[in-house]
Amino acid sequence: MNNCAIVGVNWGDEGKGRMVDLLCRDYDIVVRYQGGGNAGHTVVNDKGKFALHLLPSGIFHENTINILGNGVALDIENLAREIEELRTRGISITPDNLKISERASILLPWHRDLDEYEELRLADRKYGSTKQGIAPFYSDKYQKKTIMAGELFYPSLLEEHLQELLEWKNLIIKGLYGQKEWEFAEIRDWVSKYAEIIKPFITDTGAILQKAEKDNKKVLFEAQLGTLRDLDFGIYPYTTSTNTLSAYGPVGAGYPPMKIDRVIGVVKAYSTCVGEGPFVSELTGEEAARLREAGQEYGAKTGRARRVGAFDSVATRYGALMQGTTEIALTKIDVLSYLDKIPVCVKYLYQGKELTDFPFPAAMEKCEPVIEYMDGWKCDISAVRNYEELPEMARKYISFIEEACKCHVKYISVGPHRDAIIIR
Ligand code: GDP
Repeated sequence: MNNCAIVGVNWGDEGKGRMVDLLCRDYDIVVRYQGGGNAGHTVVNDKGKFALHLLPSGIFHENTINILGNGVALDIENLAREIEELRTRGISITPDNLKISERASILLPWHRDLDEYEELRLADRKYGSTKQGIAPFYSDKYQKKTIMAGELFYPSLLEEHLQELLEWKNLIIKGLYGQKEWEFAEIRDWVSKYAEIIKPFITDTGAILQKAEKDNKKVLFEAQLGTLRDLDFGIYPYTTSTNTLSAYGPVGAGYPPMKIDRVIGVVKAYSTCVGEGPFVSELTGEEAARLREAGQEYGAKTGRARRVGAFDSVATRYGALMQGTTEIALTKIDVLSYLDKIPVCVKYLYQGKELTDFPFPAAMEKCEPVIEYMDGWKCDISAVRNYEELPEMARKYISFIEEACKCHVKYISVGPHRDAIIIR
C-alpha cells in the first residue's frame, strides 16, 4: 500500500491541500500531475497560512521530494514568484526537494493573453475562466505547439522552436482577435529570465519515480480541482482542460505503470463552485450569503466569491465513483454548526422524472434539486478529535454522506489547521 492519490470529488476547493499537508509526512514523494496555477490550495500549518498555486503541498515537509509532473501547465513566471514568496517566509526550496519534469510544457505569456481575448470575445457567454492561460495552453500542447521544459537546455533548438511558435501564434493574435503581436525579442527575453530560475529544478521525474518504486518508497499524488471539472467526465464545457481523476495520476506524474493503492476522495460537507455552468443544488439570497461567510468561500487565487449550495448526493456519488475512492475525507463540517436544519440534495428532477444517477451535462441545465433537511447539531465541533465525541446529529450527517457516496468516511476535518482532524 505504498501509493496514494488525494483527489477532489466535487468542483474543487474541497480542502485537498489541507489533507495533503496532513498526510504527506507519511510519504517520501508528493507529485502534482495535472493543472496549473489557476486554482489554489490553502494550507495552514505551524509555519503559517499559505496559498499554494503550483507547488505541491509537500513543500513544507523537509524530507519530502516534491515533483511537478509532465501533466502540469508549467507557468514558470508564477512558479518563480511562488518559490520566491515561500523562500522569503523561511521555506527551503532547493533542487533536492523540488523536481520539475523535463517533459512538462511551459505556459507562455500569450496563453494568458489568449484566455483574456477569448473571454472578451465570448462576453456574456463566457466559461468563467480564471484567465491563467490554462485552456489555451493545453490546446497548444495537444496541437504540439508548446515548449517542453527540457528544451531550455538546448538553446539553439529552443530559439528556432520559439521563432516557429511565435510566427503561428501571431497569426491568431492579430488575425482572429485583432490584438497586438508579440516581438521575438520580448518572448525570448521572457523565457530566458524565468529559465534561469527554473532550470536547476528540471530533471527526468519519470526516472525518479521508477527508482522510488524499486526502492519501495511511498508516493502521494496530489490533484487539482475535482471530478466535476474533469475534462472528459465533468460538466463539459464548464470543466478544466485536464483530467482531474486519480486514474490520470501516474501518466501526468511521469511513470505510467505506477499503481495507486489508495484513493482519498476529498468531499466538502456542502457544495461550492467557482465560475459558470449548471450547479443544481445552488443556494441563493441570505441562505447562500450566510453559508459563504461561515465557510469563507472566496477563491485562494482570485479572491472571487464562490457559489455555494447544499451537499449534492447525485454529483458526489458520481464524483467518488469516477475517482475510484477507497476512502473519503470529509472537510468543513464545522462550518455547518450554525444551522438548525441542514439542506441536502438527495436527487434531481428532470422533466418530471427523478434522477439519482448523474446526468449528461446538457440535461443538467434543466435539473431541479430535491432538497431534504437534516437536523443540525448547533454547537462548536472544531475542538473534537474523537468520532464518538461528535454530537449525534453530526454523526448522522456523516453516515448520510457515507451512504450517498457508497464509501467509508475515514477522515473528518473540523478546521483548517493541520491538527483539526478526526481519524476513524
Ligand atoms: P483545495 O484547493 O481543495 O486544497 O481547497 P482550498 O484550499 O481552495 O479550500 C479549502 C479552504 O478551506 C482553505 O481555506 C482551507 O484552509 C479551509 N479548510 C480546509 N478544511 C477545513 C475544515 O475542515 N474546516 C474549515 N473551517 N476550513 C477548512
